[in-house]
Amino acid sequence: DAELGPAHPRWIRVNTLKSTVDEQLDTTFKGFEMVPTVQEVMALASIGKKVICLDGYVPHLIAASPGVDFTKTEAYKTGAIILQDKASCFPAYLLDPRPEDGDIIDACSAPGNKTTHLAGILHERGFAPGQRILAFEKDKQRAKTLEKMVKTAGSDKVTVIHPGADFLQTDPSAPGFQHVGALLLDPSCSGSGIVGRDDTPEFHLPSPAPLTLSKQPNRKNAKDKTRNNLKRKRAPSPAPVLLDDAGNETVLASPQALHARLAALASFQLSILLHAFAFPAARKVTYSTCSVHAVENEGVVMLALKSDVSRERGWRVLRREEQVRGMREWPVRGEVEACEGNGEVAGACVRASRGDGRGVMGFF
Ligand code: SAM
Repeated sequence: DAELGPAHPRWIRVNTLKSTVDEQLDTTFKGFEMVPTVQEVMALASIGKKVICLDGYVPHLIAASPGVDFTKTEAYKTGAIILQDKASCFPAYLLDPRPEDGDIIDACSAPGNKTTHLAGILHERGFAPGQRILAFEKDKQRAKTLEKMVKTAGSDKVTVIHPGADFLQTDPSAPGFQHVGALLLDPSCSGSGIVGRDDTPEFHLPSPAPLTLSKQPNRKNAKDKTRNNLKRKRAPSPAPVLLDDAGNETVLASPQALHARLAALASFQLSILLHAFAFPAARKVTYSTCSVHAVENEGVVMLALKSDVSRERGWRVLRREEQVRGMREWPVRGEVEACEGNGEVAGACVRASRGDGRGVMGFF
């Protein structure tokens, strides 16, 4: 995950396929002082102390003081630990994959943080015979990174990677997908949850006009239109900045250009969600972005819930009290206004806000 700046802890997920928290405390984190909260990690880190705490929301997750390059450790090189922001651990944990769920699809997988997290959770519970994780990644180059990460994490035997495969082109009723019981959807987004680092001014914009569901999105036209709206020249700071999947920044010329871009992304994100709803045996889906914009988040969820496929197949939100331990206690929830005043849907949504003292990136 992206570098978050000095005020953020370094979040480290212990990969249960390769190691345990106790083993890592005795090796990688030897010499670190254990403190009870992430707030203390951040406070003590700022005076140069090496401190860690165990996260109380997501199992096997550790917050460590920044300033140590964990990529140099043996544990990182062998896949025993994975550097992954806390909020980015929410989707796989919330999906709660189980042996009885059958095959699990990760629709937009690279570089593989969530794919390997799904494998780690299922490994703890025990994979059912023949149960697989099906990982789609449209970008062939990024699929290579995914393959490497899945192998390093020791989950290659249970993961079937589809390099270069567009999830939207899959036929949900094809024989190979008859046993897909759960899907994790983490599509491309504006990346606005990871811009605005400590050295970058935050930008705030009014919400774009809501999308309508009258027509299936025409992705090609939307893409072309957006491209025309992008200006090559860097606008005066603070200008809206978006990140692509590889973390490259695009500076948009105006709030209008940003709105057009967000609308195009939201159309694409909605099509991913509706496609997932059509898998015949699917019972659980998580939808996530590293965007802070409601139009990509609650906006997409609301449109998906109102869709024909959702009504026909009986999709609903998993209410907060039904969610796994840790996720139901997490205090930052969806925006009620963006859920058209529906408190149940807003409460079901999980958000993470950068800069609120919890040491996380902006995430939905
Ligand atoms: N889930 C990943 C993780 O946690 O490491 C991050 C996923 S990133 C936000 C989105 C990924 O989806 C990109 O690698 C992008 O190439 C891929 N992608 C975008 N559209 C896709 C599609 N239609 N089918 C499959 N993959 C797609």
